[in-house]
Amino acid sequence: MTFLGMPAGGGNLTGTPFPKAARGALGDDQLRRNLAKATSTIRTKRASVVGELPDWAELRLAGAAIKDEVLANLDEYLVRFEEALTSRGTHVHWARDAEEANRIITDLVKATGTREVIKVKSMATVEIGLNEALADAGVHAVETDLAELIVQLGNDKSSHILVPAIHRNRTEIRDVFRREMAGVDPDLTDDPRALAEAARKHLRQKFMTVDVAISGANFGVAETGALVVVESEGNGRMCLTLPRTLISVVGIEKLVPSWRDLEVFMQLLPRSSTGERMNPYTSVWTGPTEGQTSHVVLVDNGRTATLADPDGRAALRCIRCSACLNSCPVYERTGGHAYGSTYPGPIGAVLSPQLTGVDKNPTLPFASSLCGVCYDVCPVAIDIPSMLVHLRSRVTESKRATPESTAMRAVGWVMSDSRRWSRLIRLGKFGRLASRHVPLPGWSSARDLPLPPKQTFRDWWESR
Ligand code: SF4
Repeated sequence: MTFLGMPAGGGNLTGTPFPKAARGALGDDQLRRNLAKATSTIRTKRASVVGELPDWAELRLAGAAIKDEVLANLDEYLVRFEEALTSRGTHVHWARDAEEANRIITDLVKATGTREVIKVKSMATVEIGLNEALADAGVHAVETDLAELIVQLGNDKSSHILVPAIHRNRTEIRDVFRREMAGVDPDLTDDPRALAEAARKHLRQKFMTVDVAISGANFGVAETGALVVVESEGNGRMCLTLPRTLISVVGIEKLVPSWRDLEVFMQLLPRSSTGERMNPYTSVWTGPTEGQTSHVVLVDNGRTATLADPDGRAALRCIRCSACLNSCPVYERTGGHAYGSTYPGPIGAVLSPQLTGVDKNPTLPFASSLCGVCYDVCPVAIDIPSMLVHLRSRVTESKRATPESTAMRAVGWVMSDSRRWSRLIRLGKFGRLASRHVPLPGWSSARDLPLPPKQTFRDWWESR
């Protein structure tokens, strides 16, 4: 249920309808090879490190319970978080939607007089389309996460929550660097070390000269006002400490109640995402460093509306580990761009339609085979398949009557009464005719319509 006045999410949450976009992706052999190799490697690593923990099931339930507690009392935790942040010198801003968030952040950046900002780890900024808004205001945003940088230099879009350039192999990345990275060695090879070194040189110069940073946060601790960024390259640390102005853009669902609760997620997240026991860098900051001005922008953008739906709100538990993407057979074949949203894969199929309203994303709940593997691997036990079914029914209810829905309603009416049903199956031979001659657009293009049998079982039974 969405109450009047609840802001729907905007920004990069909608795109080409899934069936159309997926058809294009399925024809790209290179993309499918790149995806299959990357996802199967991460899947194997994840399974092995998760298998090491005898209490994984309990940890998973603890993660889900902590997130549910936060969601049930989000208003209180947010106020507590704001008070803790403010008491340590951080300025807090509230943004109802993407437009408001972009306006707040752009004004803060413009007030510093800079024309360039560095960014680290923030899906929320991709969601709201911040880079585009900054560009309109004459400010260039430089991504410092290696995979994000590859996507940015390649004029591309992210296709994965954790590995945004997963659809590219290293030869393609080398070509992007050679073409787009100023001052790069023209003989750069596709050796991963050489590629990382080229990116490091490019970024170091930015870290030393750019004075405004924009970060995301994996978690916010309501009790202390601490923000946490979990990453693999160490660039987060440079971004968070060197610039004189730090603006952190945080979705309102990112909170955990206390420092102690963080311990659960620091076990769940790295194992589920990169298949590591512990991620290489975890940055925690509570207030600005000396001489720094710090801002936190708390973004709603459809989250309150999602929270209002008791059957869909668990999607807000998501800690963006990407285990569901790496396990999903649909994602592995279509890649992330087909979902048309910042959030691809199974979680995108439930989160994006809820953030925007199902009317703006009606095809995503159908972008799944409902095999259930996403639920099995989710570290916070989000029952994505049930949620997909729930959203499918909302999509169907929101649509005007179609030939398919009218036919299904009629079939439902007949099947709900045994006498009606018996009478209908006696008309089997008419059914045989109908199935040959009645056009069922959509259904018959992808499915064979089975012919009813010449004699029903009941007739056969009665004749004995
Ligand atoms: S839904 Fe679960 S598995 Fe998927 S990204 Fe979120 S936390 Fe990870």
